[in-house]
Amino acid sequence: MALTMKHLFTPPVTRQYPSEKREPFPGSRGLHALVRDSETGEAACVGCCLCAAMCPSECIHIYTSDGDDHEKILDRYEIDTLRCVYCGFCVEACPYGAVVMSEHFAYSGYTREEFLYTKDQLLDNWDQHFGEKKGQQYLDRFWRPRRDDFSAARPAKKPGRGDE
Ligand code: SF4
Ligand code: SF4
Repeated sequence: MALTMKHLFTPPVTRQYPSEKREPFPGSRGLHALVRDSETGEAACVGCCLCAAMCPSECIHIYTSDGDDHEKILDRYEIDTLRCVYCGFCVEACPYGAVVMSEHFAYSGYTREEFLYTKDQLLDNWDQHFGEKKGQQYLDRFWRPRRDDFSAARPAKKPGRGDE
């Protein structure tokens, strides 16, 4: 009875979502994004499929084709987020730091198709969630060590016109 009486006068902890939103905990693993290379404007992903091989849910689907110099062209990169368990293995496995997770976790939809994120959508996620300072701080704080470790492994930039 004393416990009940005590709780009668404590303020409720219920939040009126979505009008009252809570900040995500630091390091939360949310929606994925494909890193957009600042030089080319394209995905930094080289289509090596390591992330897909590491994914325990098998929810990453990658389709590549051969380019003129036998380099891999990333045709499609898809993540079925309904199957994802947000373990972060894909991010840790990527030798190029080309896939990241954002703090954005509150996303919803009415159909299964809305949760199948395509390459363009994942690149949009990068623009949306990592374009600003806060997103970059999140990336630097939680994923940056791996990006730095492997930055030397990026393929050398091909000489463009006028570089000779
Ligand atoms: S977070 Fe885990 S389950 Fe989700 S896509 Fe990456 S490796 Fe797969
Ligand atoms: S491991 Fe990285 S570079 Fe390789 S396919 Fe996945 S995201 Fe692309």
